[in-house]
Amino acid sequence: MTQVFKFGGASIQDAAAIRRLGELLARFRVRPLVVVVSAMGKTTNALEALLAAARDGEADDYRDRLESLRREHLATVEALFGANAGPVAERVEALITELDRRHRRHAGRERPFHYDQTVCFGELLSTTIVSAWLNEVGMATEWLDARELVATDDCHQAANVDWAATAERVRGLDSDDGRIRVTQGFVGGTAEGVSTTLGREGSDFSAAILAHCLDAEEVTIWKDVPGLFNADPRRFDNAVQLERISYDEAIELAWHGAKVIHPKTLRPLQRKAIPLTVRSFQDLEAPPSTIGRDTRFDTRTPSLMLREAQTLLEIRPRDFAFMDEPRQHDILGRLVEAGLHAGLIDSGAMRLSLCLDGHPERLEPLVASLCDDFAVERHDNLALLTVRHGNEALLSALSSGRDSLAERRNADTAQRLFPGDQCQGTWHIPY
Ligand code: ASP
Ligand code: MG
Repeated sequence: MTQVFKFGGASIQDAAAIRRLGELLARFRVRPLVVVVSAMGKTTNALEALLAAARDGEADDYRDRLESLRREHLATVEALFGANAGPVAERVEALITELDRRHRRHAGRERPFHYDQTVCFGELLSTTIVSAWLNEVGMATEWLDARELVATDDCHQAANVDWAATAERVRGLDSDDGRIRVTQGFVGGTAEGVSTTLGREGSDFSAAILAHCLDAEEVTIWKDVPGLFNADPRRFDNAVQLERISYDEAIELAWHGAKVIHPKTLRPLQRKAIPLTVRSFQDLEAPPSTIGRDTRFDTRTPSLMLREAQTLLEIRPRDFAFMDEPRQHDILGRLVEAGLHAGLIDSGAMRLSLCLDGHPERLEPLVASLCDDFAVERHDNLALLTVRHGNEALLSALSSGRDSLAERRNADTAQRLFPGDQCQGTWHIPY
């Protein structure tokens, strides 16, 4: 059964990283194998900046940025292939020329369409180099164009997958002819052959789409961290690794603000019970974390998520009315329209409290609209702590010395909102 490996931008950011990728694959390769690769390093950001320059009429800036992209990719090719760089360098040059040509041809089109026709070149470039390098070090590869594999609609920059058409397109890719199949993350194509993208950081999702459609055995995401943790190790000094958790638990953690795997990536895998393993590409001996069907391990370790820069809105009816369902419906409708997510919602007879991410450009219009019809009390700079599978002692220890401004709890999740200035620095988890 096929396996899918995904490598992000950091794992192929320069020649040294691509060399390490080759060593890693020589050691861990399985058969059959599909390798999904992001753009090198921060290339996607660079492509976005290049388009922005062109759109602002900064022709010189556009030229300079295109030239740096060209130079950086060619430098990587030269560092890798040395005297044999010729043919790969030619392919890189051709892709840069094509990128420029597409940009000019589609510059008059709407922005998301133009974006997809040009930004997909980050992954086309990276996979061209990676695939050639694997050949160079003795692994036969087949370079596949994801625009012909991942079938999508034409909702540019956030394309929706046509699962049936994709399954049709990938048919036969699970046969083992000894070659590693290398393709682009993030990129798809419509039935008419127009390039699309799946949204920023979409390469994990690409790996899941291909795995789902190929009925793969497993997906491995190689990252610059060793697996998944029960809390952000940068904020919690004694965070521990979660070696096994369930799909549902991983989705809950992401929902509450953990920077784990995006739920969008997990859902297609969950549907077919395909396990997802997260592994370090830097420390090959580090134990991986696996997300799968098994729920037995979910409750063993408490998980903690801290969302900072939160705003609490306490909304009350102005007249003698109650905070009844029609009013709640009205308020939540405005929240949806503003594109905001409430990390905590709590209601009483005369009050609805919402804890929101402090996005000023979305928050301010929402607050202004609510103030037209309700009495609104607002508290900024708060921190929302969410604890899954924690006991009472853990919660009270975490709350000691901090004023709880709001809280909410159900069988497995407890949330408390604290003033942000009481939550700075490193936390210690009193297990
Ligand atoms: N290269 C794309 C991005 O940076 C996709 C990805 O890395 O997942 O957003
Ligand atoms: Mg990337």
